[in-house]
Amino acid sequence: MSVIFLKLSWGGDPTMYEHYWQQVGEKTTVVIRGWQHMSYFSDVSNICWFLEPELAEEIARVHRVVGNAVTEGRHIIVGTGSSQLFLAALFALSPRDGPEPVSVVSQAPFYSSYPSMTDCLKSGLYKWAGDAQSYSKEGPYIELVTSPNNPDGNVRRSVVNRSEGTLVHDLAYYWPQYTPISSPADHELMLFTVSKSTGHAGMRIGWALVKDQEVARRMIKFIELNTIGVSKDSQLRAAKVLKAVSDSSEHGGTWEGVESFFKFSYRVMAERWKLLREAVNSSRIFSLPEFPPAHCNFLNRVFEPQPAFAWLKCERDIDDCESFLRGHKILARGGKHFGVSPKYVRVSMLDRDNNFNLFVKRLSTIHL
Ligand code: PMP
Repeated sequence: MSVIFLKLSWGGDPTMYEHYWQQVGEKTTVVIRGWQHMSYFSDVSNICWFLEPELAEEIARVHRVVGNAVTEGRHIIVGTGSSQLFLAALFALSPRDGPEPVSVVSQAPFYSSYPSMTDCLKSGLYKWAGDAQSYSKEGPYIELVTSPNNPDGNVRRSVVNRSEGTLVHDLAYYWPQYTPISSPADHELMLFTVSKSTGHAGMRIGWALVKDQEVARRMIKFIELNTIGVSKDSQLRAAKVLKAVSDSSEHGGTWEGVESFFKFSYRVMAERWKLLREAVNSSRIFSLPEFPPAHCNFLNRVFEPQPAFAWLKCERDIDDCESFLRGHKILARGGKHFGVSPKYVRVSMLDRDNNFNLFVKRLSTIHL
């Protein structure tokens, strides 16, 4: 007899969005002929010579339309997912001639890939140094600020606040389906990705908005050394998808019979959070974070954040929430992966309807 586990929450695969893009249909179809996009180069007049001009244009446009980031006076750097840009940023921000690797910190709970990605090659340039809140070493450091945060959904600011630090703002979730857009983000180095904005994780396209030219140059150098640029096929597909997001947003209500992208995604997230909160409240075993409502300039309404992950806490005397849920056929990622107590787990809110509904159903039937 086989036991079917609910594999939902292990990662954050954003398959929820497939439904929207099916409705959009042919408008985002890309045809690539055998002879096209053969060169390594995209635009030799740009310091990011492998960035397709169409993608650069659509990135600037979508930020202008949504109002979530300043792009004026920034270098746009494309990467194979924001993951590659994260490593490029560490490379670019590490002091060249330091006596030891620079410390990389982030406030716990932090995105669980940060420690493993930072230390995977045992670099002589940088080294994971854990929770930013307990970081007290003198000298240079790099702080990763994820806002809204993965895994707990909170709006974050830097916490170390010392003059020798440099900051990387990972804004993968700063989009109006997840959190109110209060103002355009205006930091030195910001990372974005289509994975969480439009749901196209498989395209592997991310971008960095970088103020400092020398930092930009070093990030570009890293990508040159690492992958000699970024797939043009993916960049052009990403441009088409971002164009559809902006076109649909500018049409407000419906766009040639299709709902606007952020209206759709906001609505689905709101429904899912409502269902999840009802299930959690009825169980009395779990709790979820509460978020203060805020005004979203883009959607022009006040709402509470509805993050891409649920940061679920097991109450009472359940010390290992991951094992407890596993016993009820729900796979979730335990708190220790994120630098905190195993009483917490992270559950993805972006799975397909069937999986999400099954998860909520299973959760609501758990009683002690
Ligand atoms: N940063 C954060 C905070 C994430 O949650 C993720 C994806 N889980 C990434 C970066 C990686 O995104 P990409 O798919 O663009 O590499």
